[in-house]
Amino acid sequence: MSCKIDYQAPPDLLANRVILVTGAGDGIGRTAALSYARHGATVILLGRTIKKLERVYDEIEAAGGPQPAIFPLNFEGASLADFHDMALTLEKEFGRLDGLLHNASLLGRITPFAQYDPELWEQVMQVNINGPIWMTQALLPLLEKSEDASVIFTSSSVGRKGRAYWGAYSVSKFATEGFMEVLADELESQPHLRVNTLNPGATRTQMRRSAYPGEDPATLRTPEDIMPTYLWLMGPESAGVSGQKFDAQPPRVSA
Ligand code: NAP
Repeated sequence: MSCKIDYQAPPDLLANRVILVTGAGDGIGRTAALSYARHGATVILLGRTIKKLERVYDEIEAAGGPQPAIFPLNFEGASLADFHDMALTLEKEFGRLDGLLHNASLLGRITPFAQYDPELWEQVMQVNINGPIWMTQALLPLLEKSEDASVIFTSSSVGRKGRAYWGAYSVSKFATEGFMEVLADELESQPHLRVNTLNPGATRTQMRRSAYPGEDPATLRTPEDIMPTYLWLMGPESAGVSGQKFDAQPPRVSA
């Protein structure tokens, strides 16, 4: 579906909402966390590098946003018990969850499938799809307690059309799209809980640099540029929209 690149979010769009962002220490997740806090949300910053999460925490505080929370978690080693402990902690602290942005991902290697390392394949699937699936299951009861909850899974253009050499990353994003559809269909009778995917498109981050080392970053949109769709999909104006696949920017026109 089309992007909402021109959407202008009111300053209080996310007031009184509790929103968890995974991979909140860097790249698009960091900008989404800052942006959600700027629009009034209490943001739970989840990630694997505590120093980066602390910097985002400090930035939110310095900007006068609602006090955020830090939740250190590495999807690689996370167990079902960790996700259930997380749900218990969030239940105690906040009582509910109004938003969940699944953003953390690993690129793995861009290499012919014949040479793909099976261990790396497992690692990418664990971080990009298995971890987020079981985390979602653990957090469903908290999301169900919200009057208007939005779950956003981050996809990719290679999760909608397969591309040579993108291996586990591409497969994990196809699985993300599929899981979103299954869950959205199951939740049809719960209109206050919506689930969608969002493809950020080519964006100036470390992951993009690793995937396209020869590219001039100045030609790319920044994480800040793509926030309108991230805000619209998390806020009340997209209530009732579920099971859809969104893009955060128009497709790039190559010369
Ligand atoms: P990024 O700059 O590499 O940031 C990824 C974030 O995920 C980092 O904060 C990273 O933590 C975290 N993360 C990675 N592995 C983790 C793990 N095992 N446990 C917990 N957190 C982990 O990537 P990005 O470009 O912002 O990507 C954000 C999302 O957009 C991803 O889902 C990606 O697939 C998608 N995407 C990006 C683009 C693009 O052009 N940038 C295009 C299409 C889709 P550390 O900071 O500790 O490394």
